[in-house]
Amino acid sequence: QEPFLVVDDLRVEFPTADGPVQAVQGLSYQLPMGRTLAIVGESGSGKSVSSMAVMGLHDMRRTRMSGSIKLGGQEIVGMSSQGMRKVRGDQASMIFQDPQSSLHPYFKIGWQISEAYRAHHKVSKKVARNRALEMLDRVGIPNPQRRIDQYPYEFSGGMRQRAMIAMALVNDPKLLIADEPTTALDVTVQAQILDLLNDLQKEFGSAIMLITHDLGVVAEVADDVLVMYAGRAVEYGTAQEVLASPSHPYTWGLLESIPSVSTEHEMLRPIRGNPPSLVNLPSGCSFHPRCPYVDRVSGDQCRTELPELVRRDQLGTDASRCHLADPRAIFTAEVEPGLA
Ligand code: SF4
Ligand code: MG
Repeated sequence: QEPFLVVDDLRVEFPTADGPVQAVQGLSYQLPMGRTLAIVGESGSGKSVSSMAVMGLHDMRRTRMSGSIKLGGQEIVGMSSQGMRKVRGDQASMIFQDPQSSLHPYFKIGWQISEAYRAHHKVSKKVARNRALEMLDRVGIPNPQRRIDQYPYEFSGGMRQRAMIAMALVNDPKLLIADEPTTALDVTVQAQILDLLNDLQKEFGSAIMLITHDLGVVAEVADDVLVMYAGRAVEYGTAQEVLASPSHPYTWGLLESIPSVSTEHEMLRPIRGNPPSLVNLPSGCSFHPRCPYVDRVSGDQCRTELPELVRRDQLGTDASRCHLADPRAIFTAEVEPGLA
């Protein structure tokens, strides 16, 4: 059976006065039901743009999109915005870093969840209210009978995040897209929300796409990982493989910038330099201006030739876009010992 979400050679461009912004270039991945795919990268890597494309949230008058996005067998690329609205309600929903972007401050939490349900179900207000109560309970909000009539400001940050998850799940979406869902929360609450996502996935069997810059979060919840840089996938495989023996220098850089308990008070090593402008990408490998390993590759290949995304070995799943002949040997010998 085909995976629930199949993205093939997706390209997303925004025309600007300075030239087209190439936000996503030739991205392909698959997400079956019951699995969590983490899309990882810094801001400007194209990770949010590619998830918004799946939700059909771009203004199509200002966006050029090509390739294919199949959601439950239905082609999304080129679909009318009306068709997309229906797909969004039936198949997919999204939670954001900032609950304010989904929860309106002027309306009671329970009313907002009920209305989200009524937008897609012909039911009475009473039935929808009961559904909201059930959802608040499901996401671990204590005393839902009282909480349902409160306003968002009466909830803590973690509780608001739970309420937003309740609202995202009220219509039983097959795909849940979570864009940096825990970035604004403190570490303890962050762990609780990740546990909740894990539990809900077991219960509902949904597909989850998690957008994050944090490989620590990936380790907690992801089955598969796609690392993006400058609009392209640079590494893709199972979380187990990518985290244990990553084969792209950019992924190594991300791993080195995870705070761990033992290094909490030390300086983290951020990746030197900044992500490139998507209007004017570097030649060859887009990561070359920041990569410490350019000179390990013979000739000028890193600066002149775009590497393909290729599998490292036939048995594994890990694919990466790098000219290094044996990147894992370098990782094991030089990078890994430095990771706490
Ligand atoms: Fe670094 Fe070259 Fe590999 Fe790009 S292709 S990541 S510049 S070693
Ligand atoms: Mg983002």
